[in-house]
Amino acid sequence: MCICINCRYVDSCQTYHAVEEQHQQPHLTDQPTFEPKEPTINVNVRTKMNYIEMEWDVVGCESFVKDAGKWMRLRPGEPIPA
Ligand code: SF4
Repeated sequence: MCICINCRYVDSCQTYHAVEEQHQQPHLTDQPTFEPKEPTINVNVRTKMNYIEMEWDVVGCESFVKDAGKWMRLRPGEPIPA
């Protein structure tokens, strides 16, 4: 799971914006202004019946500041991104 969902910067971060794009999720912001330091992205590739699924997760980041439940507060009632 992406650490970003519990990060203070999730709604302004350029890297999380790119992760949303890859997952075809709606963006929390259309104009991310925060540039994180050294985010580490884990990409999982799965072969399905007739397509390839890619999952991007930020697994480490120098800029991470814990804000538990930040994403959930911004999107109340919506399923948490995997
Ligand atoms: S953990 Fe890093 S990449 Fe993820 S939202 Fe926070 S600052 Fe951005």
